[in-house]
Amino acid sequence: VDKDPPAFRLEELMKQTIKNPPMGDAVVYWMRMEDLRIHDNRAFSQASAQAIRDGIPLVAMFILSPQDYVAHDRSARRIDFTLRNLRAIRDKLASLHIPLYVDSHTPRTTLPSHILGLLSQWNVSHLFANIEYEVDELRRDIKVCELAKKGGRVRCTFVHDRCVIPPGIVKTKEGRGYTVFSPFFRAWAPHLADKPDPLACAPTPEPNAKLIHDHKTFGELFHRTIPDSVEGFELTTEDAEQMKICWKEGEDAARELLHRFLYTKSRPSQLGAVDPLSDGSKVAEKNPKDSRVGKYNTARDRVDADTTSRLSPYLSAGIISARECIRETMELSNAKAKKVDVSRETGIGRWVQEVAWRDFYNHVLAFFPRVSMGRPFQEKFADVQWETNEGHLQAWKDGKTGVPIVDAGMRQANTMGWMHNRVRMVTAMYLVKDLMLDWRLGEKYFMETLIDGDLASNNGGWQWSASTGVDPVPYFRIFNPYNQSHKADPTGEYIRYFVPELAKVRGDDVHNPPAKLAEKLGYPTPYVKHNEARERAIKRYKNPGQA
Ligand code: FAD
Repeated sequence: VDKDPPAFRLEELMKQTIKNPPMGDAVVYWMRMEDLRIHDNRAFSQASAQAIRDGIPLVAMFILSPQDYVAHDRSARRIDFTLRNLRAIRDKLASLHIPLYVDSHTPRTTLPSHILGLLSQWNVSHLFANIEYEVDELRRDIKVCELAKKGGRVRCTFVHDRCVIPPGIVKTKEGRGYTVFSPFFRAWAPHLADKPDPLACAPTPEPNAKLIHDHKTFGELFHRTIPDSVEGFELTTEDAEQMKICWKEGEDAARELLHRFLYTKSRPSQLGAVDPLSDGSKVAEKNPKDSRVGKYNTARDRVDADTTSRLSPYLSAGIISARECIRETMELSNAKAKKVDVSRETGIGRWVQEVAWRDFYNHVLAFFPRVSMGRPFQEKFADVQWETNEGHLQAWKDGKTGVPIVDAGMRQANTMGWMHNRVRMVTAMYLVKDLMLDWRLGEKYFMETLIDGDLASNNGGWQWSASTGVDPVPYFRIFNPYNQSHKADPTGEYIRYFVPELAKVRGDDVHNPPAKLAEKLGYPTPYVKHNEARERAIKRYKNPGQA
């Protein structure tokens, strides 16, 4: 599958669908789970331009596909977030007289023919969508192209939109995708100055004529409801409320969060499941030095403060474009020179690099689709012998391993649907190298729990931690969770907040409570000794296949 990656086959196939289809009654923009926005959305924008050219209405369509959500271990939180955002989009689209048709379809194997059926029923001449780089989704879109080619009435246009620089543009001399981040980034950054401008904002869709409300087919689409939930992905009322507080839906919330990161100072009170937008730190003067982004290079690994953007749920769901994030950052860094700061030494430069990591893992997915098929990127580690221990796995999931920083991280994920990057690395490495459990179990649990679960970044992060992926941490460099805890949470506030059993523990004990104290507080003692576990992991990685 890596020899002929479907991401690039799709581009070829769509060119083969009919060039000038007969004039239809509508143009359709097919919105997916990763592009839940109106602003700066390339496929939506191109669909609108086509509808204007043809003088016909534009219809937005979203098809819920529960079987895909099961296949991708989607969290109920992510599905609920999707539905909340769809409602927000529908209300905004109504003011542009653009209907949003939301429906559900199973089985997923018949989705392409279902889509073509709808297009035929509506007499659609053009279908536009942004490309999803996941293999199943690419194969689905390839099928859509094939059916459209056969039918000869619909032109399909699939557009690169998810990344700042699309896969296929940044390549090695041999024409392959990069597998190491640093050279990737060195090759990626100069493309920001390409012509046409890769950061250019896609024009917002034009309104349909009001007459569409009276149209016999499209008029009724305005009155359709969006379901409250998807069967099998329901949230408890309490969790749904919590998610609404932590992660407001809508493009305005995403933009506000971006501005909060770019223009305001970090506040230590913002650790837990609270609304980050109500922290009272008003958007200040454009003074990047003091703001969260200004201090990002030095403060980003501190988990006891609120130093990162928290934009991942919005970037994963495409509620804000990565382009917009870089554009705004660029204005802040060097508006006149129109050049973005990519230095590792500055807050802005470091943040741009993190956004580039997101591009990197999407490029890896496009070039090496096997990473998403349960295989290690480095095949030599396919036979590493894992432990089987349900009890240890459950304790890790519940945040009850007896290692405070690991438990705090897991409980943050369980309550907020989000975890700080440093703790994602620590918890992941603890599962794999200390408990010696298969990294795929952790990858799955993160997807099922996080609101920002994203196949490319999650798989990339897990394979990095497990030393099996592209540009991984070497297998013998194993985090000591206690040292990590001191570095990332020097005040201990993060642990005290998320592990209430330790809320009253002062000093260093909070990072590694003595057994007697732990017992008194009803806190577990660790299942493994780190040094012994470390030796075991090194041995297993050195000799794959041997226990
Ligand atoms: P910021 O520090 O403000 O960074 C800005 C944006 O850059 C992020 O929102 C994200 O889109 C991107 N980014 C930052 N770091 C990374 C990275 N290492 N890899 C890819 N993109 C990055 N990120 C997800 O979005 N979804 C996931 O499912 C996910 N799973 C992960 C699993 C593991 C084991 C690890 C180690 C990392 C994972 N990450 C994932 C990456 C990273 O932890 C989160 O993107 C980050 O913590 C989100 O917080 P933020 O928005 O405040 O990030």
